[in-house]
Amino acid sequence: MQTPAAVDYVRATSVANAIALLNEHGEDARLLAGGHSLLPMMKLRLARPDILIDINDLDELRGIRVEGDELVLGAMVTHAEVLSSPILAEHYAIFREAEKVIADPIVRNKGTVGGSMCQADPSEDLSAVGAALKGSVVIQNATGTRTVPLREFHEGPYETKVADGEILTEVRFPIRPRAGSAYEKVERRVGDWPVCSAGAYVVVSGGVVTDVGIGLTAVGAEHFCAPEAEAFLIGKAPSEENLAAAAQLAADSCSPNADQRGPADYKQHLAMELTLRALRRAAASSQGA
Ligand SMILES: Cc1cc2nc3c(=O)[nH]c(=O)nc-3n(C[C@H](O)[C@H](O)[C@H](O)COP(=O)(O)OP(=O)(O)OC[C@H]3O[C@@H](n4cnc5c(N)ncnc54)[C@H](O)[C@@H]3O)c2cc1C
Repeated sequence: MQTPAAVDYVRATSVANAIALLNEHGEDARLLAGGHSLLPMMKLRLARPDILIDINDLDELRGIRVEGDELVLGAMVTHAEVLSSPILAEHYAIFREAEKVIADPIVRNKGTVGGSMCQADPSEDLSAVGAALKGSVVIQNATGTRTVPLREFHEGPYETKVADGEILTEVRFPIRPRAGSAYEKVERRVGDWPVCSAGAYVVVSGGVVTDVGIGLTAVGAEHFCAPEAEAFLIGKAPSEENLAAAAQLAADSCSPNADQRGPADYKQHLAMELTLRALRRAAASSQGA
């Protein structure tokens, strides 16, 4: 079994302390959240930090709450907490539907929302959820905080807007009282990464779509979203024909790679089919006037 290289370890006592430690150790340091992405990368020597800054003691990064018209998730909220949260379930079915099919209970019990976002794996399920819901993240450094829309957060595979000396502290999602939402995933076996996943929220009002968000992962969708497909649907009836046309636009905007999970044309087909299924169920469950 592979083992990581020798590494120093320190437990941060506060967000400010974690930032000070990051600044003290520079690019040799990495934050440790659930460790479910970082430790495998270290075992494979794809990551070789000299020091791990453990942020598991930071209660200020925990908790799920409503603040004004937003849902706020601390960076250290685990997948399991998202899965079982009544607050999130009340507003968006997409959270529970996505979390049910992310990894297994062992990973979900330790893996965190912040770690998932910062890992920025091109197949990350929560990135598709975040892009669909048009969420944002709060990033803190020694001089203050800034908010970045999730659709601008990922700079490419495994790269985000979190710079050296910074920590992601919160993920925020707008509350849309009449929205329906849904998540669809195809995986090769239970608990696996997606071959393709698609999620959506839809608000139907007066018989037409008035608001919509589409997120896709594992199929090379730029910033995990499909803005052309969303624009197409606005003002249109959520008919099967319109939803299918939007799903096709979403699939056309993807650039999947062929790999061990399947050929590119199969993934593109999944992008269309799963987007259609997510849109269909989201539109049907919208409680618009
Ligand atoms: C067997 C297995 C199956 C999986 N299946 C799936 C799946 O089906 N779908 C899916 O989406 N994911 C899947 N995952 C990935 C899993 O969801 C992530 O590994 C995990 O949730 C990442 O969070 P973490 O807390 O473990 O992050 P860590 O591994 O601790 O950290 C990941 C990276 O983020 C950085 N980081 C962590 N927190 C912060 C922060 N607050 N601010 C700044 N940087 C930070 C770390 O320094 C590191 O670079 C799977 C993982 C495993 C091991």
